[in-house]
Amino acid sequence: MATKRRFKVLFNKEKCKGCEVCITFCPKKILCLDPEVNAKGYHPAGISNQEECIGCQSCATMCPDCCISIFELEEGEA
Ligand code: SF4
Ligand code: SF4
Repeated sequence: MATKRRFKVLFNKEKCKGCEVCITFCPKKILCLDPEVNAKGYHPAGISNQEECIGCQSCATMCPDCCISIFELEEGEA
C-alpha cells in the first residue's frame, strides 16, 4: 500500500497581514486566522489540520506577501 504523502505548511507570522486570501483558496479548508495578533496588530494565518494538507501550493501561490512555504515530510518526520 502506498504511504500517504504528508506536508508541512509554514507561515511567516510577522509578515502576514491577515488578509485571508490563503484561507479562501485552500481546497481543503484547513487554514484559519490565529487568535493572537502579530507585532503589526494583525491576526496571522495558521493551519488547523496539518494532516489534511495535500501540498497543492494554492495558499503559497496566492499569498500576496509570500508568507507561506510548503515542505514535503519524509516518513516518520513531524
Ligand atoms: S498546500 Fe493546499 S491543501 Fe495545503 S494548506 Fe495550502 S492550499 Fe491548503
Ligand atoms: S494570504 Fe498571506 S498575508 Fe494573507 S492571511 Fe494568508 S499568509 Fe497572511
